[in-house]
Amino acid sequence: MAVATARSAAVLAQKLQSEGITDARVLRALAQVPRHLFVEAVLAHKAYENTALPIGQGQTISQPYIVARMTELLLQGKAPGKVLEIGTGSGYQTAILAHLFSHVCSVERIKSLQFQAKRRLQQLDLHNVSMKHGDGWLGWPSKAPFDSIIVTAAPAEVPAALLQQLNDGGRLVIPVGTKEQVLRVYQRDADTFSSQDIEAVRFVPLIPGELG
Ligand code: SAM
Repeated sequence: MAVATARSAAVLAQKLQSEGITDARVLRALAQVPRHLFVEAVLAHKAYENTALPIGQGQTISQPYIVARMTELLLQGKAPGKVLEIGTGSGYQTAILAHLFSHVCSVERIKSLQFQAKRRLQQLDLHNVSMKHGDGWLGWPSKAPFDSIIVTAAPAEVPAALLQQLNDGGRLVIPVGTKEQVLRVYQRDADTFSSQDIEAVRFVPLIPGELG
């Protein structure tokens, strides 16, 4: 099983390379993370397809291509330091980040998902991750500032707190919009923020307020 798993993740990484992912660090991380451990056993046979899958509570594990693309955008031209992830979900994106960044802080609003994700990361011996059950609209002020921030659910507008918690030179990668969404990259230079729209995407909404 272990051999088949290693091969499956490596084959997925090769497939994503053929679809345009070029950062060798990201491809290596994808090849190392067994995605089937992040979905229910009944869906394990689909874990290495390039598709989003349900993880319960009306949420999804993101499509591998978009996980890779967002990670590539986070790393572009930057030394990987401390990263904040909003929307832990299954913990798959968190695991990829843990292979690449010195420390990962991850916030999830649904307690049961956060609990499962924490267990999976421990199983994989990924210990450079801090997790919080909370509202990602607020970021994680006590751990700020961050070199990079990634949001894996879509708000209608970018949360101001996230921009504030970026380090000088830091980058935020976030899907923005409701019916139509775009993947956007914000770059902070002192008190100036520039942004670039990358491509159309489809994410579950970033839900403000009450925790699940
Ligand atoms: N990247 C995840 C993975 O690899 O499994 C998938 C994330 S899923 C598409 C989006 C996640 O964002 C869900 O788990 C959802 O509960 C969470 N979420 C939505 N609104 C949130 C909020 N305000 N704060 C924190 N997490 C939130």
